[in-house]
Amino acid sequence: MSNTSNTTTDSPTLALSKALIERPSITPNDEGCQELIAERLSAIGFDNEFMYFGDKTLSKDDDDVEVKNLWARRGTTEPVVCFAGHTDVVPTGDVANWRFPPFEPTVADGFLWGRGSADMKTGIACFVVACENFVKKHPNHKGSIALLITADEEGVAKNGTVKVVEALEARNEKITHCLVGEPSSTKRLGDVIKNGRRGSLGAVLTVTGKQGHVAYPHLAVNPIHALMPALAEFVQSEWDKGNEYFPATSLQISNINGGTGATNVIPETLKVVFNFRFSTETNEDELKAKTHAIFDKYFADSQADYHIDWKLSGNPFLTPVDEGSAGEFVSACQTAIKAVTGKETELSTSGGTSDGRFIAPTGANVVELGVRNATIHQVNEKVEVDDLDNLTAIYERILEELLG
Ligand SMILES: [Zn+2]
Repeated sequence: MSNTSNTTTDSPTLALSKALIERPSITPNDEGCQELIAERLSAIGFDNEFMYFGDKTLSKDDDDVEVKNLWARRGTTEPVVCFAGHTDVVPTGDVANWRFPPFEPTVADGFLWGRGSADMKTGIACFVVACENFVKKHPNHKGSIALLITADEEGVAKNGTVKVVEALEARNEKITHCLVGEPSSTKRLGDVIKNGRRGSLGAVLTVTGKQGHVAYPHLAVNPIHALMPALAEFVQSEWDKGNEYFPATSLQISNINGGTGATNVIPETLKVVFNFRFSTETNEDELKAKTHAIFDKYFADSQADYHIDWKLSGNPFLTPVDEGSAGEFVSACQTAIKAVTGKETELSTSGGTSDGRFIAPTGANVVELGVRNATIHQVNEKVEVDDLDNLTAIYERILEELLG
């Protein structure tokens, strides 16, 4: 008997989770996950709209390849409570290192094992079953329930949530509250929810000098020597002190590359890759200006030149707990977690970026609440089976609080 088949003892959330994990949807592929979700939602009165962005003639590893997205909505009025998530998963790595094949969902030792079990197919299964349970009890609920599902979160995230949000904005369709089902929990389900995320600003710094022989430095301009004093000041700078919700902005250099490999050649160029994770106390323009002020000072009298190519991955966002509708949403999440688990919840803005960065700028209140994140993106990704029905109950309770 196969481990992967649904048994009669599987709860609806576990059964749907297995069905999603069986589809090997390595980013940016969907492999039929969204069809499965849409079928379940249309059975309970959702209107489904598949949105395709990108060029389907391109190969799968091209940044602009076509991506399938699902926008599903039940109801026409506000407030709009939206569950957001992604069906794509990261690659498995060496399959031989997995205890169970990554696309054969298996229950063992109280866990559901498989790629996407934590990030984030179980979260999506919880969305769907929570909606089914809620709609059964409240067929005429207030406002609207929506799902925004993409297959391009783990990759370049170019034709996913960002484009769906643009399409909704273009027709003035607003999300009031958005629950992103990314795995936010740490030691137990619901112990941490994210009510914001830091911004991410990346850059490549190129310093250009003049190549030459190390024995004739007066005939060359060494870009490595030119950069060192500026870099020392750069890494020691303070960008802000953070605030109640955010830690201080941090700068990290991730790569420095220079040199030809030869021991007797002064290279012409040097490249430095760095990244800011920034709080709401600063912004993109300010970080750029402060960075340029440092390098301008050191390069003003240098024969070497520098140039920076910037790339903003996302601005920081915050859903404050003490303000009107944002506070109402955060408190609905906290109440639901308390009701199901009996425990309090910590608010956090830590971690990497998520698709919340695309949704928050529309004015939506964004909170991330999902299963435990201990094994995400790892070999032997797994999730506690008991958490699935509990998270379903939490999501259903959030709907009760906001639309019941
Ligand atoms: Zn994820």
